[in-house]
Amino acid sequence: MYVAVALEVKRIMCGPICFPTRQCGDRSERELLHGRLSVILETWLETKPSQIDVYSLQKLRARCTIWHSIEAVGVSSGEILLSFDDGPNPIDDTTARLLDILGQESVRGAFCVCGKSIGDAPELVDRMMTDGHLLVNHSYWHQPFALFSEKSLEKEIDDCDAAIAGAVHSPSFKSQFFRPACGWRTPALGRLLPRLQKQLFPITDFGYDTNMTRHNYAKWVDRTLQVAKRDGGGLFVLHDRRLRFWGERFYNPADKESSAYRGWVPDAAALLIRRCRDEGFRFMDPHTFAGDRRS
Ligand SMILES: [Zn+2]
Repeated sequence: MYVAVALEVKRIMCGPICFPTRQCGDRSERELLHGRLSVILETWLETKPSQIDVYSLQKLRARCTIWHSIEAVGVSSGEILLSFDDGPNPIDDTTARLLDILGQESVRGAFCVCGKSIGDAPELVDRMMTDGHLLVNHSYWHQPFALFSEKSLEKEIDDCDAAIAGAVHSPSFKSQFFRPACGWRTPALGRLLPRLQKQLFPITDFGYDTNMTRHNYAKWVDRTLQVAKRDGGGLFVLHDRRLRFWGERFYNPADKESSAYRGWVPDAAALLIRRCRDEGFRFMDPHTFAGDRRS
């Protein structure tokens, strides 16, 4: 069990959440802190593995987060489903160029859009739908604490659905899926989703792409390909927009040296698609995924 807890701490500290620390806000210091923690935990875990611990870890992850094994998610062996979170992002035409790449490669993905991002570029959400991608509700304000209150969470979900409905000019639009901010699962979420007739949109790997920059995204591609080969496929995430980390003082999504800048994401997606296809993987249509869950 201690291994499960340690891995979850590592996931949180090295994942999309940044705990406020004295250094937090200085990107290089924060990444250094995460890197050190990661190395310490990886080293410890490598010396203490056991089947029971791995099983405990999987149970804990599946209970507390949107993570599920590829078998539980239902992505077939040899298939990959791509999801893109927190957008749309009009800076440097990031999301528009991503949509271009997906169109050229004939890949459809799931766009987990945030209400507050939609206001910056509603036309991109309309294009996502026109291009055949799946629109997933990712809340309005992307506030993880709202996940602990059924009432707050319902408003987050309703407001995001309304923003999507406005963007796609379809007042009756209701998303089939919801992906919670930061990937957390809470009891309130478990109670609310069935009442709203929505389903959780899962993930099979937290790739930590929110910590990547235009200089090192190839590492994310390498790692994701390795995970796909290990698991026989997967449901992966890239952030075409990266919202502010908790306590992040210097957040500037136009700063090309920071991980908040996402202009490299279309290139990362293109590279991943090419390399996965070279390895024989196929890209799953998210509407097939959605249809399988309706029946
Ligand atoms: Zn998010």
